Amino acid sequence: MIGLSHTRKAVMISTLLIMTGLLGQATAATTTAQGDPAPIVSASPTPSVTTPSPAPSLAPSPTPTPSKSSPRVENTAADTKPKGRTGPAGSIMTTGTKGVALTFDDGPDPDYTPQLLKLLAKQRVKATFCLVGTQARRHPDLVEAIAAGGHSLCNHSWNHDLKLGKKSHAAIRADLERTNAAIRAAVPGAEIRYMRAPGGNFTPAMVKVSAQLGMRSIYWKVDPRDWEHKTESRDAHRKRIIRIVQQRTRAGAIVLSHDYAQPDTIDAYRVLLPWLHKRFQLVPLT
Ligand SMILES: [Zn+2]
Repeated sequence: MIGLSHTRKAVMISTLLIMTGLLGQATAATTTAQGDPAPIVSASPTPSVTTPSPAPSLAPSPTPTPSKSSPRVENTAADTKPKGRTGPAGSIMTTGTKGVALTFDDGPDPDYTPQLLKLLAKQRVKATFCLVGTQARRHPDLVEAIAAGGHSLCNHSWNHDLKLGKKSHAAIRADLERTNAAIRAAVPGAEIRYMRAPGGNFTPAMVKVSAQLGMRSIYWKVDPRDWEHKTESRDAHRKRIIRIVQQRTRAGAIVLSHDYAQPDTIDAYRVLLPWLHKRFQLVPLT
């Protein structure tokens, strides 16, 4: 009895094994036919030929696109870095209040700064001007006009060196001090409480040296990229600036624009100033 049942068991087990084996093969066959690639592909040679084909066709397309779209000198690093409430190297992006701060960079410009000052005065709006040292030295009368208009002053380096932040502390300090000296040559005792790195390329060294000189580092929250001239008409450029500022400005934002050599920006602000003034409290950084 024991012998019999043993044989029986053996027969049953072997039958089961054969069946399982057959079933397994059948399952494998169906799965392969249905093209479920994950577990089967490595075992069977047929689908392995088809699987690689989507891989190479997918791989090249996503890789070059971002690398090609990001070689811009001005804003690349800066655009990718700030994700939260602070900009690169701890620079500030917002005013800390509900007030919106308009900032104008790279001037003063003999053609456009006076036009902008006129517009701002008409709307009774105070802004912040990030001045380049060489421009301040060339146009002390304009530095004076900016300060007389009640606008805040910001150091934007001596000659817009995009790599200034990578230099030594001593070199950074010398550059920023020279710029402040040029501004103060025009307006003795002028308060310069802010610094903006050229291109927004802040580094910890730059932020630290600026703090030692009594200046806070200001990045921005809204950037209409008014310095960028695509293959668009001047009117389209002006409208793009207006659209971006209108769409993105929220309470507390620091808005970046340029009064140096950007006539479309000045024209855009003819529309933007009354529009912003109606919706926000426009404040100079103090
Ligand atoms: Zn600049």
